[in-house]
Amino acid sequence: MKRGEARSAGISIRWKLAAFLAIFITIVLIVLWIFQVYLLDAFYEQIKEKEMRESAHSIAERLQNEQMDEEKLRFMARTHAIDYNMTVIICRLEKGTPQILANMDATGNYGGILSEEMLIDLCRTAHENGGTYYGRFFGATEVEGEEELPFLPEEDEPRVKSQHVRLMHLSVVQNKDSGESYFIVMSASLAPYASTVEILKTQFLWIAVILLICAGIMVFLLYRHISAPLVSMNAAARQLAHGNYDVHFSETGYRETRELAETLNYASNELSQLDRLQKELIANISHDLRTPLTMIKGYGEIMRDLPGENTPENMQVVIDETTRLSELVNDLLDLSALQSGSRKPNFEVFDLTAAIEETLHRYDTFVRHRGYHIQVETNTSACVKADRGMILQVLYNLINNAINYTGEDLTVRVAQTVVGGRIRISVTDTGEGIEPEQMPLIWDRYYKVDKVHRRAMIGTGLGLSIVKGILETHEAAYGIDSTIGKGSTFWFELPIEPTPNTLISTDGEE
Ligand code: ADP
Repeated sequence: MKRGEARSAGISIRWKLAAFLAIFITIVLIVLWIFQVYLLDAFYEQIKEKEMRESAHSIAERLQNEQMDEEKLRFMARTHAIDYNMTVIICRLEKGTPQILANMDATGNYGGILSEEMLIDLCRTAHENGGTYYGRFFGATEVEGEEELPFLPEEDEPRVKSQHVRLMHLSVVQNKDSGESYFIVMSASLAPYASTVEILKTQFLWIAVILLICAGIMVFLLYRHISAPLVSMNAAARQLAHGNYDVHFSETGYRETRELAETLNYASNELSQLDRLQKELIANISHDLRTPLTMIKGYGEIMRDLPGENTPENMQVVIDETTRLSELVNDLLDLSALQSGSRKPNFEVFDLTAAIEETLHRYDTFVRHRGYHIQVETNTSACVKADRGMILQVLYNLINNAINYTGEDLTVRVAQTVVGGRIRISVTDTGEGIEPEQMPLIWDRYYKVDKVHRRAMIGTGLGLSIVKGILETHEAAYGIDSTIGKGSTFWFELPIEPTPNTLISTDGEE
């Protein structure tokens, strides 16, 4: 597989979403079916039975305790019939034979005729069951040969349509005072249940269709908001992997995908900057190597071809250019060693004040010939624990820069102050100063304030990167204070290493 073309096998988000929704909808439909269609029969009958028992109980209680005329009795039967949607028949038992007193159906009208035999039959059933009986009554027409039997054996149940099934509650009660017996018959049809099931089955189809349409819309919307941005980001990331740093990750979709796109945009920006820096670095190094080489070659050829030109001055140019070349190569090696971490500081305790003075001695001739003033301000001597060579290199680079960029008074000030257990070295010039927005950038390799890479006359363009690398490996604080038109101060701090022979003053003085 080629780089950047990694493809993982597996189901895409879109299909996973669709599968999850399909499973969810199936579960919803099954649950709906179970409760609304399959168990409705049981629920309906349970509720109806409870209503019947309660209603029968309340009628029985009144018949036991009150003396009621027929009108009152009919009114009571009518109320219960209408309230509970069933047929209520109340009979008085005269010598065991039921005489109908009230016969009301669910609409509050006359409830139809039950033959005398059937009433006697039902009454006997109630007596046989201790005065109260509840059961299912099947329409006689459904079962051949059993025309007049109200209660069918259970095995015949499945053969009867639910519309023809009636739930029946029978009870026999006796008035406490008169001793008269009453027979109460209540019956309710299962037809409402059957028609409800029909309605629900039709509704069920519609519910399924609507749910499927909703699921489709949801999959589409979720795909647009989650999957589509990821797919486009993946395509952009692939381009990035192929080195196209101008790609843009579109920040659309949900917060998480937007954040991911933001992060990727940031990463591609950083990569592109890194790439640019690397190209610039190579271009600058090649330029800086080529210029002295051209000079050396040119002067060499002149001295070879023209005998009169073999002068010490021309030789000096060749030597100077060679020195520049070796400085540049040394700086590059230093920097890469620092950055790769292979150049580790060799810590030792040494007198920093003495080291500063020693560095400044190197500039004596230079100062004498060019008219520079290098002022040194050290009021105490202090020791630090650091890599001596590296710290001298920092000092050397900072002083070189100050000399390069100082103002017309040609003054450079090197100060050493002690503040709160730390020693601060600052190198100040009186030059043009540095814009605040340039300050963090000038520590970068080859960064030039004027943005035009010109051949550094004294430095190599890598000085401050080396300073930064060294100070960071020492975990030392460092920085710049600069005022435009007045000059800049480059400083760094190291912790003071106490030694028995060293006198330390902690007053601190700028
Ligand atoms: P260079 O060899 O060009 O001096 P450095 O890494 O030492 O390279 O410095 C990077 C850049 O920082 C310089 O090109 C210059 O623009 C700016 N700079 C460094 N020191 C000073 C200073 N003392 N005053 C003003 N600008 C400075």
